[in-house]
Amino acid sequence: MSNKTLNLNETLYQYILDHSIREHPAQTALRAATDTHPYAQMQISPEQGQFMAMLVKLLGARRTIEIGVFTGYSALSVALALPDDGKLLACDISDEYTRIGKPFWEQAGVAHKIDLQLAPAQRTLDARISAGESGQYDFAFIDADKCSYDGYYESCLQLLRKGGLIAIDNTLWSGKVAAPSTSDDTTALQKFNIKLHRDERIDLSLLPISDGLTLALKR
Ligand code: SAM
Ligand code: CA
Repeated sequence: MSNKTLNLNETLYQYILDHSIREHPAQTALRAATDTHPYAQMQISPEQGQFMAMLVKLLGARRTIEIGVFTGYSALSVALALPDDGKLLACDISDEYTRIGKPFWEQAGVAHKIDLQLAPAQRTLDARISAGESGQYDFAFIDADKCSYDGYYESCLQLLRKGGLIAIDNTLWSGKVAAPSTSDDTTALQKFNIKLHRDERIDLSLLPISDGLTLALKR
């Protein structure tokens, strides 16, 4: 799995970074702090973070969801794009990973926008639906365990307002979705992509940014 856009050579990729990336210093520092982590490749790329921040601003989003926080770079990117009273419901099961990001959320002055829930994400989403929050969210980013994507998608679709957007990460899975599957994760992503292609509740775009980013706009 790569976190860089497929079929870009290093020279052109560096050109994109040099000519587009505008990170907050806390984002740069958080990437540096994650660089030596054994699972550093799980972090989204800076150009993807900047793109998602633009989506959040385009939507005028105030209430957002993230499923899969890791060390908090995508959460930081979304939180920086939210208004001061905006909120990100950030779902992860790992205190070990997420605690790495918290000082950088503080450094950027956005920690008050991030409500980190350490529990299986499906449980957190079910609780929000039971609490009557359906239709109240503007944006969701799904980037956790791939075999659970379908459940996360269904719950996020319920929690989003009409015109809300779900961004789903790794939907090209290093190209493995286009070949016979050799793993449960690949099979899950293949089924998920087929389902979304046919899903008339959404408008759909599967973008070849990073490892594949699917955008689903709730009709
Ligand atoms: N979006 C993150 C970033 O930009 O750095 C990367 C997320 S990483 C690919 C996936 C995360 O999902 C891990 O931090 C892992 O702990 C979390 N995760 C795995 N299973 C989960 C579950 N059942 N519920 C919530 N989080 C889960
Ligand atoms: Ca990912």
